[in-house]
Amino acid sequence: MNLYTPIEEIPRVGLIYQKKLKKLGIKDVRDLFFHFPHRYEDFSKIIPISKAEAGGPFCFQGEILDIKNIYTSRKRMVLTQATIGDKTGKLKVIWFNQPYLINTFKKGNYVCLAGKIAKKGSAKYLSSPAYEKISPTSDIQHPTSNLTHTGRLIPVYPGTEGLSSRWLRFIVKPLLIKLKNQISDSLPEKIRKKYDFLPLEIALWQIHFPDSLKLAKEAKKRFAFEELFNLSLFVLRERLKLAREKAIPIPLNLALIKEFIKSLPFKLTAAQKKSAWQILKDLEKPRPMNRLLEGDVGSGKTVVAMMAALNAAKAGFQIAFMAPTEILAKQHFQELIKFLKNFNLDIGLLTGKEDKFFSRKLKNEAIEISRKKLLEKTKKGEIDILIGTHALIQDKVKFGNLALVILDEQHRFGVEQRAKLVGSGTETKIKIPHLLSMTATPIPRTLSLTVFGDLDLSIIDELPKGRKKIITKIVQPKDKKETYNFIRAEVKENRQVYVICPRIEPVKTSPENLDGELSQQVLSWMEVKAVKDEYQKLSKEIFPDLKIGMLHGKMKTQEKEKVMKDFKDKKIDILVSTSVVEVGVDIPNATVMIIEGSEKFGLAQLHQFRGRIGRSDFQSRCFLFTDAPGPVTNRRLRALLSCENGFELAEKDLVIRGPGDFSGSRQWGIPDLTMASLTDVFLVEKAREEAREILQEDPELKKYPLLRERLGEFGKRIHLE
Ligand code: ADP
Ligand code: MG
Repeated sequence: MNLYTPIEEIPRVGLIYQKKLKKLGIKDVRDLFFHFPHRYEDFSKIIPISKAEAGGPFCFQGEILDIKNIYTSRKRMVLTQATIGDKTGKLKVIWFNQPYLINTFKKGNYVCLAGKIAKKGSAKYLSSPAYEKISPTSDIQHPTSNLTHTGRLIPVYPGTEGLSSRWLRFIVKPLLIKLKNQISDSLPEKIRKKYDFLPLEIALWQIHFPDSLKLAKEAKKRFAFEELFNLSLFVLRERLKLAREKAIPIPLNLALIKEFIKSLPFKLTAAQKKSAWQILKDLEKPRPMNRLLEGDVGSGKTVVAMMAALNAAKAGFQIAFMAPTEILAKQHFQELIKFLKNFNLDIGLLTGKEDKFFSRKLKNEAIEISRKKLLEKTKKGEIDILIGTHALIQDKVKFGNLALVILDEQHRFGVEQRAKLVGSGTETKIKIPHLLSMTATPIPRTLSLTVFGDLDLSIIDELPKGRKKIITKIVQPKDKKETYNFIRAEVKENRQVYVICPRIEPVKTSPENLDGELSQQVLSWMEVKAVKDEYQKLSKEIFPDLKIGMLHGKMKTQEKEKVMKDFKDKKIDILVSTSVVEVGVDIPNATVMIIEGSEKFGLAQLHQFRGRIGRSDFQSRCFLFTDAPGPVTNRRLRALLSCENGFELAEKDLVIRGPGDFSGSRQWGIPDLTMASLTDVFLVEKAREEAREILQEDPELKKYPLLRERLGEFGKRIHLE
């Protein structure tokens, strides 16, 4: 048995538990060790029974004097009643709904119990304590180092997938003991010494079964640093690797770009110009660009990408432009045609359904062509810019001369999909195409620093001029009516409205309710139901005189597109939709948004929704409906009222909600602890510094085989482009 022993081979981990662990991404012993508790229960206070008083938690050691199950018909549950005794007295114990305990403990067993003392009249009892058997001893103070669930600081693990903390302790502790001398530390010794971090073996023990909270904190700090250090090292190494790859340099045609800018119906913002410049300069280099263009919704990323595409096309290369949905791909197609009409380009649209083609000869409209023909033209290099959905990554799509790949809303693509798209150039004479990814998901600055350095990130941090600030309001149930009146008035003025329905969250499972989890399918069905209910309510009760439309994930693509088109053509006044449906479409006339159940969304996501309005000269308003805002919810929603900068909001989200909920952490595959430590700017900077130093001294990490191995593992999990 070693660190890389798969969970299937760990004793006492049965099939059901293997599945649950896998769902959490835990595949081997190492993963188990690095599944950290998120807090500790302090059961370290062991006292004699005579000292028991209401409150606690306290821990008692004694003998089971009697134990029995009682069914109470009033509460409809089984109570397990026991009495324990030590030299100083006796104490009543009650467990609720755990009848099996009667088989766990027998009269005469010695136990350690920890929990709170409740009082009922003058009677005291220990309520639902944590428990474990101890070896018979007449002395109180059993050596606490041997205890697992009581008598010490007890780790509590994030409760997911029906894995109880008790079970995790039961599995992890013997493994930690067993592998004690086999855990080698990949963090270079000199760094560990420099910062006085705990050695790995000790840190692992202290984070799971700490002797004190101070030691637990020290352990945590070590791991936080280590993750940041590994992440920085990984990123810097990837960058070095990429710098050694070859790509075709795309010369910058300044006259062309100037002409394009002049032809635009608006003035570019300074941030757009700066980003475009960074991208165009990067493309001139003979190594593949891997750049993320980050900008708030509505900041105008498309036109920046368009400049890169135009420049590359005119230099004689092909561009693949991929969007996550058909609606978005079409919108891009239309926008590119509109802005590039006079630049003599052949632009194609390849989606699941229809294939369109706009040729340099057709100055005003696109024609439909057969897929076969479009693919032929692409292969021959005759299509300059091919726009599409996932359809672009099919094997049969071959480019003759691909030099640039543009990915819109990059986070919505899987890692493999992205890799495949970039790989589609390998069939051609160009080794690796340049990659420009775009995202409107703002990333906290500390994260982007770590993940991208400051090199490969372009940020559009200002909105085009003339946009009015969106007025945002939190609306309590009693004030809904007023909002509806306002909406009616707006619609009279010809404006349009979005209503976003709440996200349905999976029900948290408790250890007793192992099958209670809702499948993804059920959830999406519930979301559809929420939309339908809301649609009914609005169209029948509240606005019977207005035209209401509905959009949800279970609709066919054609249906969805028809609804979007109707909305765009003003045939619909109010559009009710789930959060998952493409709201990415640009409809400037929609100026009002209601977000139902707004407390169920993250700040970043709310901000994204809100970005769908405020796209015209009319004043836009966003109403956050919420039922019962608790203090944290309130703080979060209020952040939205005062702040309209997505980056600031992302940082606030990280601070208020904690990293586990931060929308980015899943997306980037970065562990929670790392996300947490990202708020620690000092630690982040130190980790980067050390990573850089190590690479300078030993780029191949020859002197650090363990670290090299770690990074290999790391790379499989994390995706950063
Ligand atoms: P996003 O960054 O969310 O993808 P888009 O690229 O879709 O934003 O741009 C949103 C809208 O703003 C589009 O209609 C686009 O034509 C317009 N736009 C882009 N840049 C500017 C600008 N500098 N001034 C005014 N409007 C702009
Ligand atoms: Mg966009």
